[in-house]
Amino acid sequence: MPKPISSSLLLAFTVLSLGIAGCTGSRPAPQEQNPPAQTQQAQKVEASQQDQDQEVQMGQEVFNQLKAKGEIVESSPLYDELKPIADAITQAAQPRYNHPFKFYLVHETQPNAFATPGGNVYVVDSLLYFVKNKEQLAGTLCHEVSHTIHHDTMELMEKQEKIEKRELGAAVLMGSTRAHLLAIALIGKLHSLGYSRGAEERADLTGSDVCAQTGYNPWGLVWLFQDFKNASSTEIPQLLSDHPNDQNRVDALKRHFKENPAVFQKFNPDPKSGTPINIPKHAEEVFMH
Ligand SMILES: [Zn+2]
Repeated sequence: MPKPISSSLLLAFTVLSLGIAGCTGSRPAPQEQNPPAQTQQAQKVEASQQDQDQEVQMGQEVFNQLKAKGEIVESSPLYDELKPIADAITQAAQPRYNHPFKFYLVHETQPNAFATPGGNVYVVDSLLYFVKNKEQLAGTLCHEVSHTIHHDTMELMEKQEKIEKRELGAAVLMGSTRAHLLAIALIGKLHSLGYSRGAEERADLTGSDVCAQTGYNPWGLVWLFQDFKNASSTEIPQLLSDHPNDQNRVDALKRHFKENPAVFQKFNPDPKSGTPINIPKHAEEVFMH
């Protein structure tokens, strides 16, 4: 069964927001000269706490908007295939990120998957029909989760929107629409987030580590890239423009596998060893509203 967002999460979110506001309210007026070291330390801790809270806020805004657009699938037999993979990835990846990972199916035409700050991972239903085996799906999701672990989206947003963390933090605290507007911008970019090649490669490698931990063969991501290479241009999904077929990335993964034999040697590089994925045709979907 899917695990739609729970009211307790919303409550936790509200409490969290209040917590930040409370913190700020009780903070003494800014002092210009040499605050004591302890205060500086406390401010640092508070700042990093706020960074994380902003990730949750951004993620929540995106969730609200996808939900308002009627794109989030609340229940579907497709979750039966997704859930065991999502659970395994959550278990492996959770120690690397401070907020709970949650996986949602969304309905869009182009096979895709994207993660937002705060831990939500969205899997476009058609991706389940596109992948050839469970390992390809797991590899894709491990990659996405790794963008979240690395805070790639937040960094990119800050760069592209030319905002500063402090500015966003202030907007969130004042209940400004800035976070809301940024979430809209983020949704618009979810399908074309221009991560740097370096960020993509790092997500590949961390993703393969996460996948290896789940037990799903990390070669799945390599197989997916290879399928892209062989697909005709009309078949190439949106996923490719986010994750361009890049021989360098395949090479980097292979190198990573070779350099860490204790982790990767046990996995079979042969795509034929993939586990078939059984997706019911035209599976029914009930949308969240
Ligand atoms: Zn990526």
